[in-house]
Amino acid sequence: MKRSLIFSLLTSAALLAPLSSEAVTITIQYNDGPSEGFNDATLGPARKAAFEYAAAVWANRLSGTINIVIAAEMNPLGGGPTSALLGFAGPDSAHANFTGVPISNVWYPTPLANQLGSTPTDRNGGTEEIAAQFNSDVDNPVVLGSTDWYYGLDENAGTDISFVRTCLHEFGHGLGFVGFLTTDGNGDNPDGTYNTLPGVFDLFIENNGGTDLSGMATATRLAALTSDDLYWNGASVTGSIGSRARMYAPAVWEPGSSYSHFREATPVLGVEELMEPILNGDSIVMTHTDNAFADIGWSILGPTALPQMDFDSGNPVAIAEGSGAQTFTVTLTSTNSQPVTATLQLNPNGTDTATPGVDYTVSSTTVSIPSGTSTTFTVTAPIDGNESDETFTMRLTRMVGAEFATAPTVQRTITINNMSSVNDWQVLE
Ligand SMILES: [Zn+2]
Repeated sequence: MKRSLIFSLLTSAALLAPLSSEAVTITIQYNDGPSEGFNDATLGPARKAAFEYAAAVWANRLSGTINIVIAAEMNPLGGGPTSALLGFAGPDSAHANFTGVPISNVWYPTPLANQLGSTPTDRNGGTEEIAAQFNSDVDNPVVLGSTDWYYGLDENAGTDISFVRTCLHEFGHGLGFVGFLTTDGNGDNPDGTYNTLPGVFDLFIENNGGTDLSGMATATRLAALTSDDLYWNGASVTGSIGSRARMYAPAVWEPGSSYSHFREATPVLGVEELMEPILNGDSIVMTHTDNAFADIGWSILGPTALPQMDFDSGNPVAIAEGSGAQTFTVTLTSTNSQPVTATLQLNPNGTDTATPGVDYTVSSTTVSIPSGTSTTFTVTAPIDGNESDETFTMRLTRMVGAEFATAPTVQRTITINNMSSVNDWQVLE
């Protein structure tokens, strides 16, 4: 990724940046030709809609007063039947020691430097702050075979690749979630060294022993980058999750992936962090991401910008066979500004003893809250021939227009109390 590093010369103004809690604006500058890429006659409108949706998600969760311009292109970047570069984005430049800078002698990516500086002037001459490029070949039958971009705004990409979530992820890099080091000879500066200064991202990355990257000797830093033992240690992250967050640092350096991502977590509850190197089909959460952005200096509006969804705490933990339709409630923490939908996934871990459709039935596996703050569904368990209690698990996943409250609560396990004998009913009465 090419980056020009420009020391700011804007030191004369004494204006203070207003303390802002308003959402930053992000505008898109499409740089494709008249009938290709984002301007493709057939796919262009859907491509633009998805791209702008992803930009709006970020704009709604970051506070700032200086517009961010994303220069966007879709180009035939090639690829094979099973692997291809999907796209990339990065800050157009970085700045240090500008007036109002929170930490001296550190590179700040332009989109962030603009918000933090005390001069409300675009530091990049009014052109773009983020450059983003995505691979239009994904839509052809050769690159990734029949897998194409999915341009829908929901989470129903199926076997295709969600363009929205890919854009969300790449914009995260462009907005500052990126380290400036390489170990593969492809950087602007010798492997494991900084271009005169560390990036602000690097200040929060440390080894297991707590030595941060920027404070290491070059040889130690090079080893750390492929140690599989790197951590994010910033007050917002540790305050949120109670520990450091582990970073992606595989033993073999992966250009574009190593150390500028959170380490893939063991899949938990069908959710994963936005800034992991590989996004599977699970729902996205941005808990670590939001907090890391706060650590590097962004003022975060979200996740309160979106309501959080969860099972209601008063829901039954057990239902009895033959007791009829039992009501379960899904709640939002605030009134939604857009329709909220999710999927109720049954037996998500494959370990249930009860079988859906046999031991119990759910009135709907689509959760929809078009307005207000809650919706209900019912679960019915008929009396069957089994002579023991069974359990089933429900998970909220594929959420659109809302976020998970906290990951461990989006899944609930319910016991079906066996009611096959007369004695059971007598006990109930
Ligand atoms: Zn990435």
